[in-house]
Amino acid sequence: MITEEVLQKMKEEFFTSLLEARNEGKTIGLVQGSWDLFHIGHLRYILEARKLCDYLIVAMDSDEKIKKRKGETRPIIPEEERYEFLKLLGIADSVIIKDVKEPKWGLIQQVKPDVLIAIKDNYSDEDIEKLEEICGRVAILPRQSETSTSDKIRKIMIAGKGQQVKEISGKVKEKILELKNRIGYQENMMEPIPMLIDYLKDSTDWVCPVAAGCYWNGKWVFGANHSDFNIPKYDLENRTELYYATTEHAEMNLLKKLGGVEKLDTPIWTTLFPCDKCMKVLMDKGVKEIYYLEDHPEKNWSKRSHELAEKNGIKVIPVFQKEIQEEQPMDFQQMQYIYPPNAREQKQLDIMMEMESHGKDPLAPEYIDQEILYTTDYWYISKNRFPYEGVEEQFLIVARYPVYRKEEITEEMWLDLQNIWLTLSEKYQIPGGALCLRFGDPALSGATLKRFHVHLIEPKEEAKTKFSIGGHKVLKKGLQIGKDTLL
Ligand SMILES: [Zn+2]
Repeated sequence: MITEEVLQKMKEEFFTSLLEARNEGKTIGLVQGSWDLFHIGHLRYILEARKLCDYLIVAMDSDEKIKKRKGETRPIIPEEERYEFLKLLGIADSVIIKDVKEPKWGLIQQVKPDVLIAIKDNYSDEDIEKLEEICGRVAILPRQSETSTSDKIRKIMIAGKGQQVKEISGKVKEKILELKNRIGYQENMMEPIPMLIDYLKDSTDWVCPVAAGCYWNGKWVFGANHSDFNIPKYDLENRTELYYATTEHAEMNLLKKLGGVEKLDTPIWTTLFPCDKCMKVLMDKGVKEIYYLEDHPEKNWSKRSHELAEKNGIKVIPVFQKEIQEEQPMDFQQMQYIYPPNAREQKQLDIMMEMESHGKDPLAPEYIDQEILYTTDYWYISKNRFPYEGVEEQFLIVARYPVYRKEEITEEMWLDLQNIWLTLSEKYQIPGGALCLRFGDPALSGATLKRFHVHLIEPKEEAKTKFSIGGHKVLKKGLQIGKDTLL
């Protein structure tokens, strides 16, 4: 480690040299990084920075500073070596080490460079705005190579951990199964859902595998999230927020697969609603629509991300909630012939719904699927297909013509009904029972079918039967509207 003393001396020399450059009227440029496992991307980055100024300062994070940000196993190359390397490279006019005690943007504040050179992914738009107030200007460079040092290290570590990776893929598979259960996954779901879920296998995050995809240049492209194996296992498993810097998010992996695309004007599909960091990047790329299978709306990153999407007019579409929302509001009162909440059995409900959906009145004599015992001028008589519990006989006396309200019943109809009652009692030798008639709002009357009808009920001996008055507003528990009978 470089001692405090050496560091102090280094700083003094640095500021003397900087002052000289200022006095000579040179354009001061500042570029910062860890420069761990120096690679071609680093070199290109520094060379690009070199072109933008007369006096280039390369700042380098101390070992302690890197450990704090990226974990105990980093950096791979100790600070003395990294420092010497940058010096010997001979591109910079000055190399300075940033130590852990330095406040955020401390060096930038002290140097106030004419041009600050930065990589796009490392700063948010807000950050850049603030930095522009401190520096002459901020030059944003794209990443200079396909993979970062963190990526390379991840690959090296995975390569050396065959057994661990095997364990991880088993755990990832379990998580995929759990996800499938949560969303009620079926093989025949519309694409890209099956492809997206299949791609989760590529994730190395066994706590929360995520996949993202989009249709690009004539084909589907997917990315999955990856754990940084530098982070201690305990921290990975017990995280409450997503680790921004330490895992590669699915959306970022997807963008990488697309090869540094500038404008991405196509919907993004993801298994989990994007975090705010990813949302910012997707926004920058011009994404307008995001479809997602799941969300963690209670988490802060999700709240921030939803806010960002709303502010920027990005449509976010929950794939599964949408279907449920569309099915929910069924106005039973508006139905013409039936009132489903009072249905007692699934079969009864299915028949009713089927008829209603075809514009047929289930009680009309031409559609009733029960034998009609006989017909009078105004009524027809049949037996109830779904008799109440404890009844010996249950006749239905139904208006032959489309009569639905009590006001429509004429005197002749009443007389006819009286005759039927007497005739039936005699013909079927009904010693006692009840003539039951519902009217008005089915939510109050308890009627299932709206055509005017009357029940003649004879109970079994020694038994009680119930004729229920009073209805419901929602379907009886356990009953459901079948998917085939969409109205
Ligand atoms: Zn993310």
